[in-house]
Amino acid sequence: MSKTKLYSILHNKCPHCHEGNFFITKNPYDLKNFDKQPERCPVCHSSYMPENGFYYGAMYVSYGLDIALGIALFVLSNVIFSWGTTTFLILFVVSILLLWTIIFRKARLIWINLFVKYDKTKAATKA
Ligand SMILES: [Zn+2]
Repeated sequence: MSKTKLYSILHNKCPHCHEGNFFITKNPYDLKNFDKQPERCPVCHSSYMPENGFYYGAMYVSYGLDIALGIALFVLSNVIFSWGTTTFLILFVVSILLLWTIIFRKARLIWINLFVKYDKTKAATKA
């Protein structure tokens, strides 16, 4: 797969080299560790914390992802299947409860990928 920002986001990889894992655990439902990140990429040694408070901005991305999920579920339940608003609300709440750890992680990856570019030379240091 070509090395795009989407690759880093979908595979939870370092935004610099696209090889090191961005989170300590691959399991988003490991509730003790799902949000833990190494300080530096284990492959290219780039910092995952460009500055203090860097990930506060990821909250806005998370909000956007939640809204996108809500719109998709609204269209599914009200426009396509005509299930009504109550069903939509139940679907939305259940989806948020099931997906919040994944949304948290994707929001962080999207946020850092907005500011960090893929660097071929950093990926090459692995060899
Ligand atoms: Zn890296």
